[in-house]
Amino acid sequence: MRVYNFSPGPSALPLPVLERAAAEMLDTNGTGQSVMEMSHRSKDFKPIIEKTEAALRELMGIPANYKVLFLQGGASLQFSMVPLNLAAGDAPGKGKKAAYIDTGIWADKAAKEAAKYAAAEVRASSKDRAYSYIPAAPAPAADDAYYHITLNNTIVGTRWDKLPDTGSVPLVSDISSCVLSEPLDVGKFGLIYAGAQKNLGPAGTTVVIIREDLIGKAPAWTPAMLRYDIHAAEGSMYNTPPCYGIYVIGLVLEWLKQLGGVEEIARLNREKSQLFYDFLDNSKLFYSPVEKPYRSLMNIVFVPREQDAAKKSEIETRFVKEAAAAGLINLAGHRLVGGMRASIYNAMPIEGVKALIHFMEKFA
Ligand SMILES: *Cc1c(COP(=O)(O)O)cnc(C)c1O
Repeated sequence: MRVYNFSPGPSALPLPVLERAAAEMLDTNGTGQSVMEMSHRSKDFKPIIEKTEAALRELMGIPANYKVLFLQGGASLQFSMVPLNLAAGDAPGKGKKAAYIDTGIWADKAAKEAAKYAAAEVRASSKDRAYSYIPAAPAPAADDAYYHITLNNTIVGTRWDKLPDTGSVPLVSDISSCVLSEPLDVGKFGLIYAGAQKNLGPAGTTVVIIREDLIGKAPAWTPAMLRYDIHAAEGSMYNTPPCYGIYVIGLVLEWLKQLGGVEEIARLNREKSQLFYDFLDNSKLFYSPVEKPYRSLMNIVFVPREQDAAKKSEIETRFVKEAAAAGLINLAGHRLVGGMRASIYNAMPIEGVKALIHFMEKFA
C-alpha cells in the first residue's frame, strides 16, 4: 500500500516514474544492464545523461550560454562552491564581497559558509519575525561578486514573490525546494543550484546551472572537485557522476513533459496550495504562521492555535501520530521550528492534499 508522503526531502516521486524505473531495473534500453551497472563513459550511459540535460533545458528554458552540471555533495556543498568559485581570493580571507539575504535556516548556513572564503555579508534578514516573511532586498554594492537568495525556504515555508533587481551583479539562488514548480526566468540569474531530492529525483545529485562567463574564476588553491570550470569542461564527467540519479531525474522530467510542462505543474501547484491555505485560514485548530504574500507553494507550515505550550505539544504529537496511522506520513515540522509541515512537491497529487484536509477536519 502506498502512503501519501509529505516529507520535505527526500520526497515522494511520481508513481509512473517509480514503475518505469522498476520495469527497467534489470535491462535498460535493451542493454541487458541496469543503469546502476553501466560505465559512465559507455555508449549506453551517454544518451541517458544527454537526454536528462536536454529535457531540463527544454522545461526550464535554459539559455544556450548556460552550462548544466550534474554534481554531488547536495545543495550544502554549493554553499561552499559558490563563494569558492565566484568570490574567493588568492588566500582565505582575501575574498571579494558577496551579498546574502537571510530568509531561513538554509540561507543562514549558506551565508556562514561563504564567510569562510569571501567577504560575505548578510544585507537583510527576516529572523526578527521568525522568518515568517521575505525582507525588502537592498540594492547590491557595485563591487559585490554576487547576490545570494534562497528562492523557496523549505523549513519555514516562505518563497520570494518577486526577484530582486541586482543590476549587473549576478543573482545566485538556491532553488532546491522549488525547481520546476513554476516558471523561472533562468536568464535573470548568474547561477542557480538545487539538490535533487525534493523536486527532481533521488538524493545524491545536485544540479548547477551557471552562466558561462562566471566559470573559471576559482583561485588556484581550490580543490579540483570543487571547481566549476573542471566539471564544465568534462561535461560532469571529471569523475564518476551520480549515474542512477541522473537517469531517474531524466524519467521525472519526461513525466513532467507529458503532464504539460512547467506551466501546467505550476497551475496544479497553485491549486493544491490554495486549497490547503484556504482550509488553514478557516481552521479553528491550526493556522499558517507565514505572511500571505510570501507563502510557499511547496512547503506549508501550520501550527496549532493553542497557546498553552504543553497542550500545543500534545496536539502536535497526536496529530503526527494519527496522521501516519491514516497513511499520511512525515508531517512533523523541522526540529528547529516545530509545528507541522506538509511538503507538497510536484509529485504530490491533489488527492493527497484533499486526503490531508479530510483527515484534519476529522482530527479537529
Ligand atoms: C534541502 C535543502 C538544502 C540542503 O540540501 P542537501 O542536498 O541536503 O545539502 C539546502 N537548501 C534548501 C533550500 C533545501 O531545501
